Amino acid sequence: MTTSITLVRGDITEQHADAIVNAANSSLLGGGGVDGAIHRRGGPEILEACRALRASRYGKGLPTGQAVATTAGRLPARWVIHTVGPVWSATEDRSELLASCYREALRVADELGARTVAFPAVSTGVYRWPMEDAARIAVETVRATDTGVEEVRFVLFDEPAYQAFAAHAG
Ligand code: ADP
Repeated sequence: MTTSITLVRGDITEQHADAIVNAANSSLLGGGGVDGAIHRRGGPEILEACRALRASRYGKGLPTGQAVATTAGRLPARWVIHTVGPVWSATEDRSELLASCYREALRVADELGARTVAFPAVSTGVYRWPMEDAARIAVETVRATDTGVEEVRFVLFDEPAYQAFAAHAG
């Protein structure tokens, strides 16, 4: 199965996709950026589901590079797949963890039967990963992942982010 990669500029919370991916933090209890927008627009049901995960499978939080799904509450998507990107480090190569976010989110999407999945540029906000490098890792990883997902849509918040992804996905 070939997965098509599409790029759009916009807000991930507005995407009509089977699943949207949240650039979460390991607490799963909300934060800024994408995470804040998803909880604000999706309503309390998502946070309730995250709390339930913290009370069961992820007592210590969701580890970096892993992914887990919840309801998408009031959002147009059906599911939110939460993943925790690595914080950028100038001294340690954490690329494998960033790649793992994309692989694991797609694995969870396959378990759900999701056919369209929208991703933000994980780790490029508060976690400070340089956009060019994050775009390369994101596109290369999706291309190299065997998945039943038919469309991976990267949703880029601004023009520089869009251009960085276009340089690799174009
Ligand atoms: P992280 O903590 O993984 O760095 P952030 O949410 O801080 O995650 O940022 C990830 C990327 O998502 C950044 O490039 C940021 O500009 C972008 N972003 C922020 N809000 C939205 C949104 N509502 N939709 C899509 N992208 C967003």
